Amino acid sequence: MGQLIGDRAVVLGAGMAGLLTARVLSESYRSVVIVDRDEVEGVEGARRGVPQGRHAHALLAKGQQILQELFPGLDGELAASNVPAGDLAGDLRWYFNGQRLAPARSGLMSVSSTRPVLELHVRTRVAALPQVSFKTPFAVRGLRTGGQGRIIGVTIAGDDGEIEELAADLVVDATGRGSRSPVWLKELGFAPPEEDRIVINLAYTTRRFLLNSDPYGADLSINPVASLDNPRGGFFPKLHDGSSMLSLTGMLGDHPPTDPEGFLAFAKTLAAPEIYEAVKHAEPLDDPVTFKYPASVRRRYERLVDFPRGFLVIGDGVCSFNPVYGQGMTVAALEATVLREQLAQGIEPDAIQFFRAIAPLIDSPWDISAGGDLNFPGVEGPRTLKVRMGNAFMGKLHTAATRDPRVTEAFFRVAGLVDPPQALMRPSMILRVLRNSKPAADTGRLPVSEQVHVESGSRNDQ
Ligand SMILES: Cc1cc2nc3c(=O)[nH]c(=O)nc-3n(C[C@H](O)[C@H](O)[C@H](O)COP(=O)(O)OP(=O)(O)OC[C@H]3O[C@@H](n4cnc5c(N)ncnc54)[C@H](O)[C@@H]3O)c2cc1C
Repeated sequence: MGQLIGDRAVVLGAGMAGLLTARVLSESYRSVVIVDRDEVEGVEGARRGVPQGRHAHALLAKGQQILQELFPGLDGELAASNVPAGDLAGDLRWYFNGQRLAPARSGLMSVSSTRPVLELHVRTRVAALPQVSFKTPFAVRGLRTGGQGRIIGVTIAGDDGEIEELAADLVVDATGRGSRSPVWLKELGFAPPEEDRIVINLAYTTRRFLLNSDPYGADLSINPVASLDNPRGGFFPKLHDGSSMLSLTGMLGDHPPTDPEGFLAFAKTLAAPEIYEAVKHAEPLDDPVTFKYPASVRRRYERLVDFPRGFLVIGDGVCSFNPVYGQGMTVAALEATVLREQLAQGIEPDAIQFFRAIAPLIDSPWDISAGGDLNFPGVEGPRTLKVRMGNAFMGKLHTAATRDPRVTEAFFRVAGLVDPPQALMRPSMILRVLRNSKPAADTGRLPVSEQVHVESGSRNDQ
């Protein structure tokens, strides 16, 4: 344990952000209580409070590194549970703009875990900390104030509606995208944060299969990424239990259907034809489930000048990114690292300082995902010169990465949040991109967008 700062910290939410926050708080508070409206201990599958857990979840390379630092040996524990792992840029098959990226040996680890399995492993490690306990199933109703702008605890309600008050020296809201903190702040007389919102009207639809063929070869996953030509995408990882998960993604209202025939027809339009070929005669293990994601939302807490003492917000409650970029868990891990550094000073973390410290860490992934989404003409938002130039360059870079593994590697170091986006702008990299992105000879094939239109006849125009 580090320097003791307080008696009890209460973390609201036992998702990834809540668990990682509890891990770092356990070094500075005598006890850490995690409140969640779901029963979480011992739960192995998807749960109601984390409905996105039924859909493909990848942990980016930087998140992998931080989790390994916070929980040494976690990689080995996942491997012992048969969770497949390999090189993010070399052992996953990526398609951008309908073309396969050249595989590269990047040294960046990717663990092909489902969200519930990853959460179970992290939760088991957090639960083993002597300072940490869970208070479940309890829904958080609101904050308790002690006057002079100080939070002194929370009000929670059990399943039977019975209200309890939980005292705390520090309360951290990790309740995710639906965080009520902006409302609570208003009720307490504080200004709520401004919001940046990029409407993408995205949906995931997911089904698990037992395959009777092997489309993977040595690869762990097949991932055709949405592009201008074909805004439909998919993630098709092998799982720890020998099954495969297919998450289909469609944006701007072009949502993957949940009826089996519609699901298959959507899969047929992906830029990776081997996915449809593998699932069309495979054994389905469940019914397709869908998750709608209307908009990426960034709450600008760092711009506030007044905030209650003894209170923080972390994770998706601060910024919720378009999930296809796979950034949310890694950003939660980066934020937990910042909190850990502040706690190491031996004093109660200052909320405004915390928000200002995490803002630059959110900037890069936000630029990558919100900026990338603005490449689609149907997505509304300010297309600054930086956004337009960035997207034009990324188009060339993805083409170059189909020919040059060094470009693939550099791209995944940035997309994996290991390197900053500026790493792609080094003169040697720009040269490689320009050299390798000259258009190939016309193949006479229809662009994928045209094929989609012809085959489905139902897709909304983007
Ligand atoms: C379809 C989809 C796919 C995604 N794929 C990826 C991916 O590939 N990689 C990645 O890194 N991220 C991905 N994400 C994002 C990722 O799920 C989140 O960023 C990550 O889980 C961190 O969120 P969180 O812990 O802040 O909130 P959550 O994980 O949503 O957890 C919030 C917790 O708070 C609890 N809670 C909420 N309200 C209350 C209340 N009032 N009282 C008590 N408890 C409450 C919930 O039960 C839950 O346990 C995806 C998201 C979606 C929607």
